[in-house]
Amino acid sequence: MRLVSYAAKDGGSHLGALTEHGVVDLCAAARELSLPRDTFASMSSWLEAGEPRLVDPAKLTARASSSALPLADLRLLPPVPRPGKIVAIGLNYKDHSLESGAAAPPKSPIIFAKFPTSIAGPEDAIVIPVGNPNVDYEAELAVVIGRRGKAIPAAQALEFVAGYMPLNDVSARVWQFGDKQWVRGKSCDTFCPTGPHLTTRDEIPDPHALAIRTRVNGITMQDSHTSRMIFRVPELIEFTSLSITLEPGDIIATGTPEGVGAFRKPPIFLKPGDMVEVEIEGLGVLRNPVVATTA
Ligand code: ZN
Repeated sequence: MRLVSYAAKDGGSHLGALTEHGVVDLCAAARELSLPRDTFASMSSWLEAGEPRLVDPAKLTARASSSALPLADLRLLPPVPRPGKIVAIGLNYKDHSLESGAAAPPKSPIIFAKFPTSIAGPEDAIVIPVGNPNVDYEAELAVVIGRRGKAIPAAQALEFVAGYMPLNDVSARVWQFGDKQWVRGKSCDTFCPTGPHLTTRDEIPDPHALAIRTRVNGITMQDSHTSRMIFRVPELIEFTSLSITLEPGDIIATGTPEGVGAFRKPPIFLKPGDMVEVEIEGLGVLRNPVVATTA
């Protein structure tokens, strides 16, 4: 199932299922699809229900053929509009850790935070902050947590995953490296584009079998594969949840492969007018324009 959040006329967000015919409003369709209406009111209510509920594909197709909303008529929001936390992983691909100048790949996961206010959707722009602090792209597989848990063993970890989506861990390199702490350079407003949709776990049996790419203005800048992660999704969930409770809607950004702009020779940074695309096999293309700040 491919789930989108989209803007409702009253200002809230609706949960929809993306089909070949368009988007089915799952709240409006709940009765016909034999679903609990409260659970399908929004992405957060769907996630907080604990064990993510799926929709019968045959019923969904039947509903879609009669009353789907055209995708072009909707304004898509970040699939998870307000995650409780965004847990990001540094240097989780060997080639990227080496290009960054590290003497050796990390021996345990490097965790840092992106503040939830950095979240952006598939129709939002990446805004270059005042001072233009060398803004860079990082294609990443995002894991969305669907069940609350602490000290989750790796063997059970995927049961705590609701689904996956492309994520761009946009980074202000001047601030990331200059501050020593990465959090400011990683948490600027709009620096966490996600989407276009959340693909539920049942459709992705192996999150380490996916091609992952970045294009800037159509030119391929990162071209790798999630099989090359140093610490895999189950290990990341186990390691994080040993000390931090994971909750529905939390996002784990699993690290980026080689090819970021900062370590190119010469370096390449994002500028107003650019179009950045993060594509992950089976999860869609996340496409965000870059604009200058107006504030
Ligand atoms: Zn990253």
